Amino acid sequence: MLRAIMTKPGKIIFEDVQVPLVEDNKVLVKMARIGVCGSDMHVYHGKHPYTSYPVVQGHEVTAVVEKCGAGVVDFAPGDKVTVQPQVFCGKCAMCREGDYHICENLKVMGFQTEGMAAEYFQVDQSKLVHIPDELDLDSGALIEPVAVGIHAVRRLGNVKGKKVLVFGAGPIGNLTAQSAKAMGAESVMITDLSDFRIQKAVECGIDFCVNTAKEDLKEAVLKNFGKDGADAIFECIGIQPTMDQAVSIARKGTTIMVVGVFGDIPRVDLGLVQDRELTLRGTLMYKREDFDDAIRFMADKKIVVTPLISRHFAFKDYLKAYEFIEESKDLAMKILIDIF
Ligand SMILES: [Zn+2]
Ligand SMILES: [Zn+2]
Repeated sequence: MLRAIMTKPGKIIFEDVQVPLVEDNKVLVKMARIGVCGSDMHVYHGKHPYTSYPVVQGHEVTAVVEKCGAGVVDFAPGDKVTVQPQVFCGKCAMCREGDYHICENLKVMGFQTEGMAAEYFQVDQSKLVHIPDELDLDSGALIEPVAVGIHAVRRLGNVKGKKVLVFGAGPIGNLTAQSAKAMGAESVMITDLSDFRIQKAVECGIDFCVNTAKEDLKEAVLKNFGKDGADAIFECIGIQPTMDQAVSIARKGTTIMVVGVFGDIPRVDLGLVQDRELTLRGTLMYKREDFDDAIRFMADKKIVVTPLISRHFAFKDYLKAYEFIEESKDLAMKILIDIF
C-alpha cells in the first residue's frame, strides 16, 4: 500500500509499505478522504511548533472498515467511520479528570504521531466513530472540524437564546457559527474581510454575514443585535486585529472564546478585561461527545458542510492540494484528498 510522507517542509514522497497486520482490539481501515486544514499548512511551511519531520499527515478523515482484530465487537467490515485523532496518556491530572483532549502528553495523529495519509491505517477501536448513512464520504471528513466548533461552543456554556458574534468566516469560524446556531443561539453574526467567505457563510444559513472591510463593525452589531450588542464572542482567526476588535466590542461581563490559533503572540488590553469584567476562555480540539453532537447535527442538516468543500485532489496529487491552497488563499475553504 502507499503512504504519503512529508520528509521536510513542502516535500512529500510516497512509500510502498506492507498493509499492517491486524492486532487485537485494533481495526484496519481503508482510507477514503482526508481533509487539509490550517494546521497541516503550518506543517507544509515548516512552521508548526510541535511537529518534526518526517511526518505522515492526515487527521480529518473518512474511512471504511476493512478488517477487525480479535476483541472488536462494535465495528464490522464495510462500516463507514471517522477517527478521533488524539492519543493521550490516561495518567496525567487532566486525563484523570476526563479532559484527555488537553492531556499533558497529548499526541495528535498527523503531527506528533503517525497520521492517516495512507491507503490503509490500523487504529485502536477506541478512536473509531461510526458515520451514519445520512453522511457521505465527503461530509465524513468534516466531522473533525465541526467537532472543534461544537467544543468551542460547549466551553462557552449555554448559548440558548443568546446573540453570538463570530470573528472569522474560514472553515472553523463558519462551523463554530453554525454550531452555536445548532446549539440554540438566538442569532449569529459572522465577520470576515473576504467576500467569498462571507458568501459561503450566507450559503450555510448564518443569520448575519458582515464584511468588515465594507461595513463598520460597531454599526453592524447595533443593527443586527440592538444596543445590548453580542452576548458572547468567538475569535476564530488568531490575529491581533480581530482580538482587538473582540475586546473592544465585548459588552461588560461577557466572554470571548479564543478559538483561533495565534501565529504571533497578541497583545490584549487587559485593562479593559479587568474594568469590564470580561472573561477570556481558551478551547482546544474536542472530546467524544463533541464528535457525537457534530455527527447528529450534520445528519439532521442543522450544520451543513457541502458549501465548504472547495476542491478534491487525488492521493498522488497530495502536494498539488497544498499548492492550490497556497495560490487560492481565501478561495480555498476545505480541500479533500480522495484516496479511493
Ligand atoms: Zn485539522
Ligand atoms: Zn494525559
